[in-house]
This record gives sequence, structure tokens and C-alpha cells, in this order.
Amino acid sequence: MPIYEYECKSCGRRFSRLVMKVAEASGVRCKGCGSSDLGRLISRVVVMQTEKSRLENLDTGKSQDENYYRDSRNIGLWAKKRAQDLGADLGPQFEETLEKARSGKILDEL
Ligand SMILES: [Zn+2]
Repeated sequence: MPIYEYECKSCGRRFSRLVMKVAEASGVRCKGCGSSDLGRLISRVVVMQTEKSRLENLDTGKSQDENYYRDSRNIGLWAKKRAQDLGADLGPQFEETLEKARSGKILDEL
């Protein structure tokens, strides 16, 4: 069952909402100010997925929502998936670089 996280564009409040049906997702309003001008953040369902299922679900032909990249674990995933699609052999070096990118350590080396 998906739990969607929203950020109100009017007051900045963040809240999560369990959405049973897709139709309910469109009727969500801010709990603070009642505004329906909401941005959806990454759902916890996505966060709980394993990397394997993330890779399987990731469509590299489609651009991701900017919120997608707010989850640091998604950084580099696209590149990894793309490389796999191309049959490229990703050595340990790639994983290492990816880890640095995710943790922000790569910035120290630039
Ligand atoms: Zn609000």
C-alpha cells in the first residue's frame, strides 16, 4: 500500500498520506492550511524497495521526477542501470565511485 509524502507549496508543511486508491491521491489537501497545491515527495514504498527492484523498475528512457534525486540512494542508480542495459561490466571501481557520490565524499576529491 503506497504511502505518499507531500510538501505543501503554500506553507511548506510536509505530511504523509496513505493512499488506498489512485483516485484518492488527487483529492489530498494540506493538513495545515488546506491548500491543494502540493508537491509529492518520494513515497516510502519506493524507499523501502531493494536496490534490485529499484533497478528493475527504473526506466532509463524516462526522466525522473526531481524528487527522485532527493533520495541519495537513487544517485548513480540510473548510470548503473544504463550500464547494465548496455551489457557493460561494472567493476568494483564503479561501485566505489557510486558510494562516494551517494555519501557526498566525491566532492572532497574534486
Ligand atoms: Zn499548507
